[in-house]
Amino acid sequence: MVHHSPLIATIVAGLVVAFLMGALAHRLKVSPIAGYLLAGVLVGPFTPGFVADVGLANQLAEIGVILLMFGVGLHFSLRDLLSVKKIAVPGAIVQILVATLLGMGLAHALGWSMVAGLVFGLALSVASTVVLLRALEIRSLVQTERGRVAVGWLIVEDLVMVLALVMLPVLAGIANGDGQGGASTILLPLAITFLKVAGFIGLMLLVGRRIIPATLHWAAHTGSRELFRLAVLSIALGVAFGAAYIFDVSFALGAFFAGMILGESQLSRRATEETLPLRDAFAVLFFVSVGMLFDPSVVIDRPLPLLATVAIIVLGKSLAAFVIVLSFGHSNTKALTIAASLAQIGEFSFILAALGTQLGVLPLDARDLILAGAIVSIFLNPFIFSAVAARPGDTGKIEPLPQPQPAKGLIILVGYGRVGCLIAGELKKAGRSLAVIEERPDPVRQAKAEGIECLSGNALDPLILRAAGIDDASHLLLAIPEGFEAGAICEHARKLNPDTHVIARAHSDAEVEHLQRLGVPDIVMGEREIAARMLSLTARSSRQGKD
Ligand code: AMP
Repeated sequence: MVHHSPLIATIVAGLVVAFLMGALAHRLKVSPIAGYLLAGVLVGPFTPGFVADVGLANQLAEIGVILLMFGVGLHFSLRDLLSVKKIAVPGAIVQILVATLLGMGLAHALGWSMVAGLVFGLALSVASTVVLLRALEIRSLVQTERGRVAVGWLIVEDLVMVLALVMLPVLAGIANGDGQGGASTILLPLAITFLKVAGFIGLMLLVGRRIIPATLHWAAHTGSRELFRLAVLSIALGVAFGAAYIFDVSFALGAFFAGMILGESQLSRRATEETLPLRDAFAVLFFVSVGMLFDPSVVIDRPLPLLATVAIIVLGKSLAAFVIVLSFGHSNTKALTIAASLAQIGEFSFILAALGTQLGVLPLDARDLILAGAIVSIFLNPFIFSAVAARPGDTGKIEPLPQPQPAKGLIILVGYGRVGCLIAGELKKAGRSLAVIEERPDPVRQAKAEGIECLSGNALDPLILRAAGIDDASHLLLAIPEGFEAGAICEHARKLNPDTHVIARAHSDAEVEHLQRLGVPDIVMGEREIAARMLSLTARSSRQGKD
């Protein structure tokens, strides 16, 4: 039975081994991505034991790409996208040119043909959506100016790759001597591709903009959570698939536009939440699928070409991006973040490599180098990011918040959602000194607009707790819905300041017990408070009825 279920076997093996390796990475305090890649190598065809289906793993990874890009689109407006075009368009194009030329140089040195060099260079020039977005998201950078430039850059790269994939068969035909090679052979497919991309964008802006939000609103008004979830997933996956199937646009681009159109709707926050768990699971499968392609023998057989490939991806490409961003008059921090985020390759490179070998223009050696270069650069990326780019926050380093009023003590509030914003409002009215930590960009913006000191980031990060002023805080209010996560934050905070008084929010008996075990003195269980209040209101109205 199991032998006939390659899809189930691939999903289960991918997730289970990724969990085990991710947990190991967590213990060793390295990026979980390294763990997921290793999981892929373990379930891949080049290591003994169980072998998952590479083709299926790649398709599952595509779902991760779609959901990630959809999520990014939800926080992007057309205005955001246009606001970065001045740097993203020339930046991406020049950077692709530089990386392609470097790749062609290496190909020449290795004795490959000109077309092979072109495909190889192009494959090294384009960054992976998943790796870039994960790196930005972990550091809460997607909504910052640098994050927007990086995403805009990615979209331009994406468009160039759509063109490259269309042009490759034409070039291969010419290289193999069975095409005519006239101007029309090259120009016609280019023109058709442009028309298709324009047709897709036009259709989304004219028709999609009306139909898609209306569908989601309708689903929300049915009151069925299931229908709403289905509507969100249908829109994300349906538009991405339709874009690829009808218009030959990439899945990623299709999903981005679907998200962007929904982002204008009031329901975008709920839509984001609904896709989060699936998105995370499939993004993990992306890394597993990359790991599966890795043949460790390349490292032994061809160490020097591999080193040169990695150098082009990690050094050449990012140096080009760094110089371009700087030359546009932007700051060092912005240039470094963008350069670091692009210092890797991924899914597009695999597609190009596969097509190149299929068309007979790319030697198998080149494909292996691309795959090995991808895994090494993805593995290195979190380290590069930590070394050169900033940690959470907009300014490059976390600026501690100013902390006056030591008299009554500082209160740190984690979470500025439905609960946190009510607490903050009252504390502000009472004149207490308050610092908020919130990880999502929209509430951070809202808090700042309301004049509340707010740090953008995850309170699990001791650096963020420190920057908020935990050392001197009299109270730590954990107004987040996840009681177990609140427990972990409490443990970090206690190490920094054992005297701070912790008040935590919980929503289940198990969470209450866990927090009690950790010694949290005050725990507010949402459901119990609601029940108590409803009972007291019942009692009051009954009394009034008797009077
Ligand atoms: P709500 O459940 O509406 O009160 O929202 C809870 C808020 O807490 C959301 O805005 C989350 O983004 C935020 N949040 C959850 N976990 C964390 C965390 N570990 N650090 C910072 N903010 C968080």
